[in-house]
Amino acid sequence: MTGTSVIEIDRSALIHNLNFIQDYLVRDVKVSSVIKANAYGHGIEEFVPIAEMAGINHFSVFSADEAQRACKVKQPETEVMIMGWVSDENLEWVIKNQIQFYVFEYLNLEKAAKVAKKLKEKAIIHLEVETGMNRTGFIQKDLKKAVDFISKNKDLFVVKGLCTHYAGAESIANHVRIQKQLKKYNQLYKWIVNNGVVPEIRHTACSAAAMSYPRTRMDMVRIGIIQYGFWPTLETYIQYISKQMDKTDPLIRIISWRSKVMSLKKVKTGEFVSYGTAYLANEDKIIAIVPVGYSHGYSLSLSNQGRVLVGGQRAGVIGVVNMNMLIVDVTTIPDIEVGDDVVLIGTQNGLDISLASFADFNNQLNYELLARLPMNIPRKVKN
Ligand SMILES: *Cc1c(COP(=O)(O)O)cnc(C)c1O
Repeated sequence: MTGTSVIEIDRSALIHNLNFIQDYLVRDVKVSSVIKANAYGHGIEEFVPIAEMAGINHFSVFSADEAQRACKVKQPETEVMIMGWVSDENLEWVIKNQIQFYVFEYLNLEKAAKVAKKLKEKAIIHLEVETGMNRTGFIQKDLKKAVDFISKNKDLFVVKGLCTHYAGAESIANHVRIQKQLKKYNQLYKWIVNNGVVPEIRHTACSAAAMSYPRTRMDMVRIGIIQYGFWPTLETYIQYISKQMDKTDPLIRIISWRSKVMSLKKVKTGEFVSYGTAYLANEDKIIAIVPVGYSHGYSLSLSNQGRVLVGGQRAGVIGVVNMNMLIVDVTTIPDIEVGDDVVLIGTQNGLDISLASFADFNNQLNYELLARLPMNIPRKVKN
């Protein structure tokens, strides 16, 4: 360990998850592997070649810089799609390299046409439509303008897809909204085809939609969180597992994040631990200091909340998480020494830290914790 912690990626677990996902969805639905946010913290460069081994040949990223990183390690025929931001500076690279990209602003369509003309290449676009999330996506009036422009400039565009994104398919509370979005999407698809632009593929589903709403799967699904072995929410998991004979979780987490005990200390009853008064020792305590803090991606919101594995047991994070350190209560764990392994995510002695927090049942914190793992923590692939 050259830094203060290390992140390990389990190759066989990743291949297992991707096989499960592709089998479950039936092989005629294409799976686009979502690797935005540095592959949810797992590392784009480490992740892409393994996913390709499991048969993935389409990746989704948020921005052109992520696409560039994927392109450095992917097989030549593997496709990359940008779901978000392409800057003017990047547009030429994107079109020249036949990177697919979302279009949701008329202005960007005009810009893409200009660059495509100059390069004598077609821009491969996915038209995103607004169906009720109220984020990016053409409303119908603007879609009409876009379709007119594309029809007039047919030689400059490949309309690869028509897409949208659901506003919370991981929670049954949003059921009505999701159904409305699906209906709106289907109307817009019919409308666009009737108006002479026929997208090659339809895609709308993220992990939760693909698992819980089969009709959202269409031609391709954009799978993020579940390929990393995390369910979007407990609800999505329960909905899945209740229909299965085999009640074991089919997903395996592929990341583990480890550090070490840096220092140990006894604290007397009535003393406060770490900054301020967030934690008061209600008895004599033994605490272990770990060299990972919020600057390393361990969220401040896990102060007095997080849990880790040390000495083969679970231990709670106490007090405020510092910039470079966190503090763990090891009072009841025997024989802890400086240098002992501390598991922040992963397994030790048959125990498992899946949820980073005691209180977290909606998993949002897991998305955030993963996505914010700094790029400069070394990633190691374990076979
Ligand atoms: C992040 C994202 C996904 C994947 O979401 P998961 O819940 O991680 O599966 C799919 N589509 C879009 C547009 C996204 O931004």
